[in-house]
Amino acid sequence: MSDRKIAVVTGGSRGIGRAIALELAANGHDIVITYKANEEAAAETLRLVAAAGGRGEALKFDVGDPAAAEAQIEGLLARLARIDVLVNNAGITADGLFLMMPRQDWEAVIDTSLGGFYNMTKPILRKMLRRKQGAIVSIASVSALVGNRGQANYAAAKAGLIAASRVLAAEVARLGIRVNVVAPGAIETDMLAGFPLDHVKQLIPMGRVGRPEEVAKVVRFLCSDDASYITGQVVSVNGGMF
Ligand code: NDP
Repeated sequence: MSDRKIAVVTGGSRGIGRAIALELAANGHDIVITYKANEEAAAETLRLVAAAGGRGEALKFDVGDPAAAEAQIEGLLARLARIDVLVNNAGITADGLFLMMPRQDWEAVIDTSLGGFYNMTKPILRKMLRRKQGAIVSIASVSALVGNRGQANYAAAKAGLIAASRVLAAEVARLGIRVNVVAPGAIETDMLAGFPLDHVKQLIPMGRVGRPEEVAKVVRFLCSDDASYITGQVVSVNGGMF
């Protein structure tokens, strides 16, 4: 990789993660995306990253699996001289009323978002600390901030991300690392497939769902030197939902 900045984006094969990868690539970053299964989509992101002027590579592993993450990230850290940006974006939903929610759905959602935060942030933060420079942005959700029925697992995972990010921001604020959170509302990706969009739109003051690029631009800003005095914050991107 060149001496451009280097960004790691989890869940970069599709949706919001892909948009973030492209936005960062178009703004001076080489990109490492991670993904779980979708090789075709990951390859397409890499193609688009190259078209946007960045170099890219893709790592396939379950971000919520500590051993898999450790193996992949150790290899990555050994290969790369620096990592400037980490975007913890990978996430899933497994909605259902709490009383009916199987433990596996509870754990899968929390392991992916919150476990993924731990598994990725800890080793990459160590690398950032050596240069006393870096930005970490995690993608939470409006669901962390309101009581959305059927999303106890997802809300817990995303609220945990916010809480952990605030603590981490305070812990590393004097060490040159900024840690922030973006909380999107309803964004048009595969994750919304099957959602009753007409009903959802009625809950959004702007009357429409968001586009992945509208999240990506905020992430890019928070990762940039333009946000040099912003840390420990949660920025909502939700069309005015509250
Ligand atoms: P998508 O379902 O479109 O994409 C999810 C991405 O995460 C894919 O790249 C997927 O990889 C990857 N991923 C999922 N599970 C894992 C895992 N265990 N390990 C590694 N990678 C994984 O989701 P969105 O783009 O919509 O969502 C991105 C983030 O934004 C998520 O954290 C989501 O919770 C959050 N968000 C989304 C909203 C929305 O309305 N869309 C609203 C608020 C927050 P693969 O392609 O291989 O499956």
